[in-house]
Amino acid sequence: MATGPRLNWWKSPSRHLAGGEVLVKVLTCGVCHTDLHVTEGDLPVHRKHVTPGHEIVGRVVARGPETQRFALGERIGIPWFRHACGVCKFCRSGHENLCSHSVYTGWDHDGGYAEYVTVPEGFAYRIPARFDSLTAAPLLCAGIIGYRAFERANVPAGGRLGLYGFGGSAHITAQIALAQGIEVHVFTRGKDAQKFALELGCASAQGAYDPSPVPLDSAIMFAPVGEMVLPALASLVPGGTLALAGIHMSDVPTLNYQDYLFHEKTLTSVESNTRRDGEEFLTLADRLDIEPAVTEYPFEQADQALRHVKGGNIKGACVLRVSKE
Ligand SMILES: [Zn+2]
Ligand SMILES: [Zn+2]
Repeated sequence: MATGPRLNWWKSPSRHLAGGEVLVKVLTCGVCHTDLHVTEGDLPVHRKHVTPGHEIVGRVVARGPETQRFALGERIGIPWFRHACGVCKFCRSGHENLCSHSVYTGWDHDGGYAEYVTVPEGFAYRIPARFDSLTAAPLLCAGIIGYRAFERANVPAGGRLGLYGFGGSAHITAQIALAQGIEVHVFTRGKDAQKFALELGCASAQGAYDPSPVPLDSAIMFAPVGEMVLPALASLVPGGTLALAGIHMSDVPTLNYQDYLFHEKTLTSVESNTRRDGEEFLTLADRLDIEPAVTEYPFEQADQALRHVKGGNIKGACVLRVSKE
């Protein structure tokens, strides 16, 4: 499957827009680990030769019928979660992220490694003015999913949180946790990422499989590496929670119940997010002065950016500059 940008995916903004959709000229698009899962076939193909990219910042340039939310020219954000049915029991009970008819940007529908994209306006976000279009991009998946994982990890007030893997999502989640007085410990193979974690104020940073220097109340697994689940569970206090934040993970090895799960430890996963998560997170990110660290790549170097993300030793997130402001 092609991984590079297709510059001419959309030549004419005059295409008929579906009801409720707006057409967006892409300014920037973040490069997420999920883009690798899509382009390398870890995830099943939902749309052949789909254009990846689901951390999109752009401006509304056309509005379809029945749209009313955004003005022409307004800067908006387009995330991974693109649509849900709205009528199933999950949608009706505040769990639209679990809807079996949900649709995703850059997996089911062409995403932001392109000049133009469409989005149903009810699934886009306003971007707080404080964020420029480069730093806003990773908020839209790395940030929102990290926030949901943080909520799922059930960290007690003033507690100790372990972050396994320290890329785009974890470095934002760490800032959310630190701003609330939570002690954060980081586990990652990358030396630069370890250094970055300490610079942000994390209490410790060590290798991915190292035992934790202190017992952890909660942990979040960002790395898609099943083997890391065991040391993470082993580091939890009785009653602690480990949340697996990824959409894909290699197999988790057989685990000994007594050593890893007994003492009422909770092992849970995170599936996408609700729009409420997104709105809450963007409000918090604005008020807490969250500062995503980004490495900018020109649009033409999307392949290099994907390789950088795959390599794992990143200070923050990689973002494609697709067009000028
Ligand atoms: Zn539904
Ligand atoms: Zn993502």
